[in-house]
Amino acid sequence: MPKARIPTIESICSKISSYYPEAKLDQVKKAYELASKAHSGQLRSSGEPYMIHPLGVAQTLADLQLDLPSIITGLLHDTVEDTAVTLNQIETEFDKNIAELVDGVTKLSKITFKTSEEKQAENFRKMILAMAKDIRVILVKLADRLNNMRTLQHCSLLKQKIIAQETLDIYAPIANRLGISWIKIELEDLCLRYLHPDVYYRLAQKVSKTKREREKYIEDVTLILDERLKEYDIQAQVSGRAKHFFSIFKKMERGKVTYEQVFDVIAYRIIVDNITECYKALGVIHAAYKPVPGRFKDYIAMPKANAYQSLHTTVIGPHGERIEMQVRTQDMHQVAEGGIAAHWKYKEGKFDNRSHENVEWVNRLLEWHKDLSDPNEFLETVKIDLFAEDVFVFTPKGEVKQLSHGATPLDFAYAVHTDIGHKCISAKVNGKIVPLKHRLKSGDTIEILTSASQTPSKDWIKIVKSSRAKTKIRSYIKEQERNRALKLGRELLEKTLKFFGHSLSKLERSGELLKAAQSFNLRTEDELYIRTGYGRLTPENIMKFLLPKDALEKKLESAKTEDESFLKRMFSAAKKRNEDGNAITVGNLDDVLIRSGKCCNPLPGDSIMGFITRGRGVTIHAVSCPKALDSDKERHVDVQWNINNTSTIKRHVRIRVICLDEPGILAVMSQTITACGINIASVNIRTTKDKKAIAFFDVEVGDITQLQKLTSALESKSGIMSVERLKS
Ligand code: MN
Repeated sequence: MPKARIPTIESICSKISSYYPEAKLDQVKKAYELASKAHSGQLRSSGEPYMIHPLGVAQTLADLQLDLPSIITGLLHDTVEDTAVTLNQIETEFDKNIAELVDGVTKLSKITFKTSEEKQAENFRKMILAMAKDIRVILVKLADRLNNMRTLQHCSLLKQKIIAQETLDIYAPIANRLGISWIKIELEDLCLRYLHPDVYYRLAQKVSKTKREREKYIEDVTLILDERLKEYDIQAQVSGRAKHFFSIFKKMERGKVTYEQVFDVIAYRIIVDNITECYKALGVIHAAYKPVPGRFKDYIAMPKANAYQSLHTTVIGPHGERIEMQVRTQDMHQVAEGGIAAHWKYKEGKFDNRSHENVEWVNRLLEWHKDLSDPNEFLETVKIDLFAEDVFVFTPKGEVKQLSHGATPLDFAYAVHTDIGHKCISAKVNGKIVPLKHRLKSGDTIEILTSASQTPSKDWIKIVKSSRAKTKIRSYIKEQERNRALKLGRELLEKTLKFFGHSLSKLERSGELLKAAQSFNLRTEDELYIRTGYGRLTPENIMKFLLPKDALEKKLESAKTEDESFLKRMFSAAKKRNEDGNAITVGNLDDVLIRSGKCCNPLPGDSIMGFITRGRGVTIHAVSCPKALDSDKERHVDVQWNINNTSTIKRHVRIRVICLDEPGILAVMSQTITACGINIASVNIRTTKDKKAIAFFDVEVGDITQLQKLTSALESKSGIMSVERLKS
């Protein structure tokens, strides 16, 4: 663990030169000059010049032996947030890459975490990993947090607790996940010091009081291990030290160890030359000290998710105490200490992975984890990359919601609660009103405004990104249409029954209507009403079940009032064949009674809408039809042309052709129409004073495509000036 010291630009540069001799340090010095000029006059809480902080961050990054962009970013990381320096300026004076790194760190710094629930903490960690597209942003942020934790004594008690808790919940686990164990350990111990000062200082006292005793003990065990290993010709570096305070604290919390058992908190590390030696050394240890059953772990054969490799064992020491041992190679040791940072280190004349971002690291993990027993553990690590596809946003209370890339405020509203989604009228993102289709970014705070009178609209399906929201909106709309059909169907049946001298509610109570429903293979009366509403069943169908046929007809003959005549007309209308039925799909139902609106007579391929009529099924209108626009919105249903079933039926369409009044022009038009395979049902032609002719053709066409072909065929003939489809 590198010691905290007062860093200078010289100490940083000499550190860089020690692992990267050919480094061009002028950019680092330039960054230092820019930052110290920008921060001049600013002070830390300690009263020291502010620049001591970015220097400390850069020093940590140099300790991790990172590349120059990381260290330059460390020096500049607070300039955009706290001084007049802009990202543009950084891009001009350095490059786009540095500007992006600084921007990434600035964005992370702006986020405040308001809750420390365990479930939320995991979301915060994911959010941070997702927001930092370049893993170096996280490394700079960790170095920043480490430096702030090291100087936390200068802050108020309240601020100490808040920052320490956030560090413990979010940053220490991230350091662990990235495998940078020395940062994780130092952060955890600093957190313990500020969150549980009593425990921390008692432990510190205990550990220092027993220092001599412990050192003697470590020396004894080290000597024995050294000798034994030498006997077997194993070159090894053996070292022992007390476990870090936070892990002792955790053990004490779990009741596994007391202050008195300090020997139990010593861990030995044995570093050997290669993997074979690791297993040999393990054999030597187990021969010297009795192993504790169940404590051996082979992280070499099965590395941890953060790429950590070692052999772990616990043995019974000379005084009957438990001693933990870790056996690893030098390479494994570097990964254990530096984690992902080890892969960013400068080695053999180049930086690993510099151009490949962290892809190679993840690939290496994939390779290692092919046979991992716990796939969740692996996923947690790989998600570092995968999260880039997600968006993490805050609720006004500071909770984090994970949404898919491209999510809108509506997705967020549905993620909070289905009712919030249904009632959503607008949204505020970071305090500003935005349209519902606004795209959310990680770190945004979203506030949803609702209204009791709001209901989901079909257009929302195009706006939302998540399948959850889509499903909720669709099922709401379907439910609404179902309810409308149910209400209509029930009304219709009630009226019909009344005419025939029956009461719907009585028949409901007696179970007669249920029997009628069952005779149509329906389970409930409601389904009977819904089908009647959609026109799939007619009141006549149902009456036939309830009354003898001659009684029905006799009663119909006697219809007198307007309402009664309406019923009569309805009964005869229903007798007509449902000829368009297969050409159109209504709300995913088949076999709905369909009629085309006489006003607009839509052709297959035209944009259409459906309108539930009273007892005559669904009428189809062109979307542009004035009658459709006027109709009651409550009765609209979703309709589509059923493409597989349209061509067999011919529809009458009237077209108007304006042409020059020339001999033979009628023959040209008739031949053109017939050549398109279209029948002419009737024709009507008149001439005008200015030597023009206007012809009206009633033609029989299958769909819009056929009509369009006809129109362009006619328009291409000389003498023809315009061709127009008439709506009625
Ligand atoms: Mn900072």
